[in-house]
Amino acid sequence: MNRVFNFYAGPSTLPLPVLERIRDEIVDFRGHGLSIIETSHRSSEYEEIHNGTIANLRELLRIPDDFEVLFLGGGATFQFGMVPLNFLDSSSSCDFVVSGSWAKKAMADAKKVGKVNVVFDGAADKFTTLPDPKSVKPSQGSRYLHITSNETIGGVQWQEFPDTGSVPLIADMSSDILSRPVDMSKFALVYAGAQKNLGPAGMTVVIIRKELVEKCNPDLTAYLSYKTHAVGNSLYNTPPVFSIYASGLVLEWIKEQGGLAAVTQRNRAKASALYDAIDGSDGFYRCPVDRSVRSMMNVVFRLKSEELEKTFLEEAGARGMLGLPGHRSVGGCRASLYNAMPIDGAKALAELMKDFARRHG
Ligand code: PMP
Repeated sequence: MNRVFNFYAGPSTLPLPVLERIRDEIVDFRGHGLSIIETSHRSSEYEEIHNGTIANLRELLRIPDDFEVLFLGGGATFQFGMVPLNFLDSSSSCDFVVSGSWAKKAMADAKKVGKVNVVFDGAADKFTTLPDPKSVKPSQGSRYLHITSNETIGGVQWQEFPDTGSVPLIADMSSDILSRPVDMSKFALVYAGAQKNLGPAGMTVVIIRKELVEKCNPDLTAYLSYKTHAVGNSLYNTPPVFSIYASGLVLEWIKEQGGLAAVTQRNRAKASALYDAIDGSDGFYRCPVDRSVRSMMNVVFRLKSEELEKTFLEEAGARGMLGLPGHRSVGGCRASLYNAMPIDGAKALAELMKDFARRHG
């Protein structure tokens, strides 16, 4: 098989050794005579996978002991509602940094539950920038402050995080979790859908401070409460077993790569290859994002016309580079460079960009 370079924003490319291992194990899981996806989630075989995945996530992200690691269903979108349902009510307020499409969606759900103060709004700059983290201060009495660590559509990424003192900092890390080391102790809750840096869609990781678990709304139905999942080690009901199993393999792969330090270094090199191609193109390509907050995960760029963009995307496709159109809401081009994208993929795209600019400039 000729594998393409897959630049999709999510679901997105997975490490080939992980896919091969899944292929090898999917019918007969490690000699047990059945597949992991037909094994009870109460079996010792599954339990080992479940707890091993949690342990590897804890190790790689250096998650302090006073945090719970939960595996939930419903995607990151479910967290947009679950966070306010647990920690907000009609008489209380939270803070939002509105950095792009995903922050807006999370905020829209929070507004259904309580009051929202906007502490930064990037709309006037078309979501091409972020606030100085030092300038981000929570409002008086705020229940939490929500940020989106990487805006997958706009291609803006926080480089450092705000200090919110006693107000819990909550982050949607769906599109950059495990792409770089992060000081988890700054956060009270982090959530991320699996389908970018972790594994196949189906599971959402929630990393939550134990202290915050105690503050969950006690009147929620069982699944909606973080406490239910914390008490049950994410086995209150049937968890998304396939996604958890495959994510476990991805975590092992990250460890084999040398952990987050090695992965970050490679991610930086991949992003630089593309940003250098953009910056060295004499305006043929344009990245709208403020340089200081350019994303290492989702590199967005425009060409001079939509027609030229269409030709470029067609050429890329013909050369085995897929998933490069920008999100349907914004157009343009976007190259997603998650952990599993090999450096050769980024180099091939950078070469095509340079060559295309020479021919069409
Ligand atoms: N937040 C961010 C930053 C995302 O990129 C996405 C998906 N692309 C979501 C939330 C929504 O995730 P899901 O589709 O898993 O609900």
